[in-house]
Amino acid sequence: MTPKPAAVRATVYGYPRQGENRELKKAVEGYWKGRVDADALRETAAGLRRSNWRQLTEAGLHEVPTGDFSYYDHVLDTTVMVGAVPARHGAAVEADALDGYFAMARGTQDTAPLEMTKWFDTNYHYLVPELGPDTVFAADSRKQVAELKEALALGHCARPVLVGPVTYLLLAKPAPGVAQDFEPLTLLDRLLPVYAEVLADLRAAGAEWVQLDEPALVQDRTPIELDAAARTYRELGGAADRPKLLVASYFGRLGDALGVLAKTPVDGLALDFTASGAAHLEDLAAVGGLPGKRLVAGVVNGRNIWINDYQKSLATLGTLLGLADQVDVAASCSLLHVPLDAAAERGIDPEIARWLAFARQKTAEIGVLARGLAQGTGAIAAELAANRADLASRSGSTLTRDPAVRARAAAVTDADGRRSQPYAVRAVAQRAQLGLPLLPTTTIGSFPQTSELRVARADLRAGRIDAAGYEERIKDEIREVLAFQEKTGLDVLVHGEPERNDMVQYFAEQLTGCLATQHGWVQSYGTRYVRPPILAGDISRPQPMTVRWTTYAQAQTPKPVKGMLTGPVTMLAWSFVRDDQPLGDTARQMALALRDEVNDLEAAGTSVIQVDEPALRETLPLRAAEHAAYLAWATESFRLTTGGVRPDTQVHTHMCYAEFGDIVRAIDDLDADVISLEAARSHMQVADELAEHGYPREAGPGVWDIHSPRVPGTGEAAALLRKGLEAIPAERLWVNPDCGLKTRGWPETRASLENLVAAAREVRAEL
Ligand code: GLN
Ligand code: ZN
Repeated sequence: MTPKPAAVRATVYGYPRQGENRELKKAVEGYWKGRVDADALRETAAGLRRSNWRQLTEAGLHEVPTGDFSYYDHVLDTTVMVGAVPARHGAAVEADALDGYFAMARGTQDTAPLEMTKWFDTNYHYLVPELGPDTVFAADSRKQVAELKEALALGHCARPVLVGPVTYLLLAKPAPGVAQDFEPLTLLDRLLPVYAEVLADLRAAGAEWVQLDEPALVQDRTPIELDAAARTYRELGGAADRPKLLVASYFGRLGDALGVLAKTPVDGLALDFTASGAAHLEDLAAVGGLPGKRLVAGVVNGRNIWINDYQKSLATLGTLLGLADQVDVAASCSLLHVPLDAAAERGIDPEIARWLAFARQKTAEIGVLARGLAQGTGAIAAELAANRADLASRSGSTLTRDPAVRARAAAVTDADGRRSQPYAVRAVAQRAQLGLPLLPTTTIGSFPQTSELRVARADLRAGRIDAAGYEERIKDEIREVLAFQEKTGLDVLVHGEPERNDMVQYFAEQLTGCLATQHGWVQSYGTRYVRPPILAGDISRPQPMTVRWTTYAQAQTPKPVKGMLTGPVTMLAWSFVRDDQPLGDTARQMALALRDEVNDLEAAGTSVIQVDEPALRETLPLRAAEHAAYLAWATESFRLTTGGVRPDTQVHTHMCYAEFGDIVRAIDDLDADVISLEAARSHMQVADELAEHGYPREAGPGVWDIHSPRVPGTGEAAALLRKGLEAIPAERLWVNPDCGLKTRGWPETRASLENLVAAAREVRAEL
């Protein structure tokens, strides 16, 4: 590779916000509880920003991001920046900006929060902007300007990062009371002057470059939307008093949007070379490269935790040198989506630990690659050699390759994924076996995770109680949960999942090939962080995982107790997956491990088994052209998990989040007998969607929205059931809440389930 004399800059688009010991979570939650005052919260936040910038600079980055920090969510910050505060929160924001901000995020006693939804196909949730024809935007650049000035004062070369206007509008939804077909993108002309003003303010405050994130452009976009992007960057690029503009894309390939952006007068583009990198190179060549522009190459995966392949990245970067004026090195997206520091993990096998790169390690990788690109590979010879050795250790490791697992996966046939009888025949057998009434009542699995349970787990970890003592506490809880369900008159019972810390981690801890982290926290939303397990090697199940608890529960009651498992797609979606084999291969291994559990549950006398797949819809690829391939392996893995049971064993599945319309076919392909779905907030709309697509199986659209402590009245639940009956015949309609009850308290759980059973009885009597 020819060394490039021009300076190559290393940078990232964002960094984990929480701090080494989740200081931000503690400070924000402390503020909510009144234990931390606003000044102390601000000081904690400023300290975290300082420390992040220092870490980035020490790792060899030349340009640090600013404005990516957030007390809760960067899309909500953007809503504040453009003055799009919903009317119902106006007074609160006016009275106190910080309290008003948190009110928008979390709601108050009498004001609903903004809706929360997933940020593209990640597990990060943003607060959905609410816009309407009457929305008036007004620039408020204070947060962005202040954080830029902070970084500049510390001597950093800083680049503010904003959510771009096109993505902001495409992520928005019509405000309450506004016609549902209102298109926020029609507000673009009103929004652009506000962005221009913010850009001018940042320029005046000393920004040379400003980054505008437009990840929405890696999704399928209509000509109107592409035109909006063209107009946006022609206009913002045409302003006189503007900083240099870097438009960033990530999570996929820009496709048509690349040509559109390349023609605008922006000064640089950032592209993701980890998602379909080769295709992106072709696209770039096809538009004639980016002459006169800066190209920021995301070659280090910002969403997964594996070390980079330096040689491969340098080859990509080398090709890019011929295609743009200046090539810089970055992670593919903000490092918000990975944990902070792999070095903090003491419990991970050292052989595996050397394959891991969290945010800190990735930053160092970016620095090394920039050096290699600028000065030639000779300058990073030692790093290259170490990287080669680490990669070889991984590809040659026996930890990642279990011949027995591979042989079993290779021997899977179509028949393994097919139940022995079609649904119609199974339904008859199950009716005879289970003897349930019409409109059977059930719950989704978990019951309130009480503080007693958390204390028991902490006691076990701290050695204050032994395994037997812990087991007694779990059994007590199971008996109590069952007694309540029997007394209330539910038809299909659950054991309540008291033994599970988390629906994915609980299984990952018991499966070979998966590992849990100790400090690998990743922001899910606001102050909620999760620790996704790492799927590092071939997956198998050394011994039964849930059978003991389920059979214990079944022994307490004559009513059927559902066995409860997390499905293969959700296990993958909420973990860091291995990147050295296709996802479908990992899903198949996971499915076979879970299949063993399903079969063992059946053999132990469980007649109803639920395999949860709440993530099936959310990991749908961003581009429609990739849906079919994804759904093929996703549904196959579910069928493989459940295909081995008898016709009279009833397989349930469960999914949350609305908008199932586009995957009804796939839901049908799962060949489950019963599906429970979130529906209460959308007034049973999913029941209509299932009916419209001729869904032939049993379904339980939720009649209790479990996301708030509010108790639905019997009349309200009955009305929802009658609505459900308009779409689904009584023989196929189930009665259940929207989702599991682990986040609920006992008082509302008791009252709501009593009402739900009463509603089922009331509507049954009308049949
Ligand atoms: N069975 C799980 C529970 O009830 C399902 C959770 C989910 O859908 N996210 O908690
Ligand atoms: Zn759910």
